[in-house]
Order: sequence, then structure tokens, then C-alpha cells
Amino acid sequence: MSARAGIVVTGTEVLTGRVQDRNGPWLADQLLELGVELAHITICGDRPRDIEAQLRFLAAEGVDLIVTSGGLGPTADDLTVATVAEFCGRELVLDQAMEERIAAILRKLMGDRSGVDFDAVRAGNRKQALVPVGADVLDPVGTAPGVVVAGSPTVVVLPGPPRELQPMWSKAVATEAVQQAISGRTEYRQEMVRMFGLAESRLAETLRDAEATIPGFDALEITTCLRRGELEIVTRYEPDAARTYQDLLALLRDRHGSALYSEDGATVDEQVAELLAGRRIATAESCTAGLLAARLADMPGCSDYFAGAVVAYANEAKAEMLNVDPVLIAEHGAVSEPVAESMVTGALHHFGADTAVAISGIAGPGGGSPDKPVGTVCFAVRAGSASITRTLRLPGNRSDIRERATTVAMHLLRRALTGQSD
Ligand code: ATP
Ligand code: MG
Repeated sequence: MSARAGIVVTGTEVLTGRVQDRNGPWLADQLLELGVELAHITICGDRPRDIEAQLRFLAAEGVDLIVTSGGLGPTADDLTVATVAEFCGRELVLDQAMEERIAAILRKLMGDRSGVDFDAVRAGNRKQALVPVGADVLDPVGTAPGVVVAGSPTVVVLPGPPRELQPMWSKAVATEAVQQAISGRTEYRQEMVRMFGLAESRLAETLRDAEATIPGFDALEITTCLRRGELEIVTRYEPDAARTYQDLLALLRDRHGSALYSEDGATVDEQVAELLAGRRIATAESCTAGLLAARLADMPGCSDYFAGAVVAYANEAKAEMLNVDPVLIAEHGAVSEPVAESMVTGALHHFGADTAVAISGIAGPGGGSPDKPVGTVCFAVRAGSASITRTLRLPGNRSDIRERATTVAMHLLRRALTGQSD
């Protein structure tokens, strides 16, 4: 048994990318938690024909449940309810009680603003009280009610604004129609491990070996994803495959122990945040221009341990703000390990910190030379007595290099905080 669902995100603003879709990913998470398998998320504009095509497609795929988002407003271009009603072969009828409710909400929203013709507004919103015959009506969070139309598939129609859609989703799930539609759901577990410093091809090789050697490997649904220079491995399985997952984890530990830094899905930022408790950290950055500082400032509890940051692009700024000796820069170049080390010392002193990270590199096109091409980045990290200095060549364009450098710095910091030195 299983239950499958599809999501139809509607709205020309989402289709064109002016508004980034937040409903599809949010609903996907909710379905996963319920144990419903998500088959597709489709995005289309506001045209009824296009919405209908998506509904037909998903129904033909045999999903048990379709969830739509958007197009429940009072204006003429909001036609999702009418389209779904037609698709499900149901007439639209006026829900008078709902019409009164919407009128009451509107009255409250408008207060006693004078000069507004309340009857005209109310007429515009009568449209929102039109619901398919026999549908469950979900109370509005804004002004638009949602509907649940039982059938095969059952269709849940929700409004577009995420702050309205999210609370209404739980009401939709509670309806008999949705419970029926997803009665075949299975419990899934989902685990994530994170790796840093491993090529995706090597991981692929290990997974091929796992397939050949671990009994019942097929019960694991594994997705690998390369993000910010890290590998994320997400595994979904039913509870009786827990042993198989442990076998996989053991193999990953065995083959890639030094790259595998998180077995519980915790990010390097979360781990570093914990390690920084009771410390005081400062940063000194050139090519990353404060990206590392911004990441630290996003971390939990940062106000307790993050002292401050210096962004020093020009050589004079490095000398002035971080006390880097201009002779050192002349001798080794601004992108060099001695200068990175001098920057880290400067940051420690400037902020009275016990932990510091410095990054000096060449991210921009035209900034390189034969012995220091674009992508050359020097790092220096101090955490108490632990000290790490590195030079790396990072691939990609300017923003890739800066992002990757920030991630590398975070991992070096993690190492230093766990007492590892060069
Ligand atoms: P309204 O009564 O506000 O018109 P609606 O149900 O008709 O509600 P839409 O017109 O589709 O919803 O969208 C209204 C606004 O909600 C959009 O302009 C956008 O800001 C936000 N929104 C809609 N869909 C999404 C989405 N998938 N992700 C993020 N925001 C969205
Ligand atoms: Mg709208």
C-alpha cells in the first residue's frame, strides 16, 4: 500500500520567477511527514486551461491526492475553484454562511474607512463564497476559503499566500476526504549525512559497492546532492529497513570517515556554533568581503561568541585595521600564508578574541597571476593553541569561489575548535 500525491502551484508571478515558490517545498515536507509519496510538483500560470491540464496530468498518473495553491482571490483572474469544480464535475453553489463570514472579515479589515463602497467590495467577494457542491469548505485565514473535493483523486484547493496556506493545510488534512485519500500512506524515516572534501564520483563508487554487498539495499531511497561544496546524502526508508541503513552508514564511515562530518544532518554551521560556546571569535576577510561574518551572524547564539569582523580589501586597509606589516605584503603578496597569518593575529588583537579566521584570496577575474591564478585562497585559523594555515585553489566563477572559500573556512574552524592543528 502507498499513497501518492501531486502539487499544482498556480500563479503567473510564480511561473515567471517574480515570486519564488514557497508552497511547493513546504507542502512537500508536510506530505513526507505524513508518509505520502510526492510524485510531482507542477507550476503553471493563472489560466484555467493550464490549471486543468495539470489536474488531468496528475489524475492520469493515478495520484490519490492533488493539492493546489493560489488563485482564490476575489479578482477575475483567480479561477482555481471554478476550474477544480469543473474538473471534478461539480456545480458551483453559493455558500451563504461563508458569504456572511467573508463579509464580516472584510468589514473588520476595512474598519470605518469612509468613501469605500462596501457593497461593491462585498459583491467582488461573493465569488469567494462559491464552492463546489458537496465540498468541504475550509475556513479562511485571510478572506479566501479553501475547499476539499472528495473523489479520485481528492483535490485540496488552498490559497497562494504562504501564511494563509500553512494553517489551512492542517484543517484540510483533518477532513474525512483527505484521510480517505491518503489511507494507504506508509511511515517513512529520513536521515541525512553530510560530507566535506569528497568527490561525488567517489561517493557514487561507494554506493555502487553498497548495492552489491548490502543485503536489502533496494529498500533505501538515496538522494545525493552537491551544495556549497558539500555532499548531502538523504536516505528515505520504511522502518523495517533500519538495519540496512545502519549497514550503509557503517560503510560510509569506513570508506570516508574523514569526510563524513555529520551523521544527524547537523550543518557545519550548527556544529561550529556549539563548539564556539564560551569563546570569542573575530574574522578578517578580503576576497569573501564579509560572507564568513554574515554566516557567523546567522548562527544560533552568535551574540554570545561573535565579537566582530574586519573586511580589508586594500593593502592599506590590512595595514591600518589589522596591523599587517606592508613589508610582509610587498615580500609575499597580499594573497599569501604569511599575510593571512598576520591578518588572523590582527583580528585576535583588535577584538580581544581567542578564536579568529582570516581569508585572503583572488576571486575576481583579472586578479590572478601565473603562480597565483584566480581561485587561489589562503586561510589562517586560530582557536586557542590550535592553528591551521592553508592555501587552496578553488574552482568556479567569482561567487562560487567566495562561497566555497567561506565553507572551507567554516570546516577549518571546526577542525581547529576540535583541537586539530596543522
Ligand atoms: P489573494 O486573495 O491574495 O489574491 P490567492 O489565493 O488568489 O490570494 P494568488 O493570487 O495566487 O493567491 O497569490 C497571492 C500572493 O501570494 C502572490 O502575489 C504571492 O505574493 C503569494 N504567493 C502565491 N503563491 C505563492 C507561492 N507558491 N509561493 C510564495 N508565495 C506565493
Ligand atoms: Mg490572487
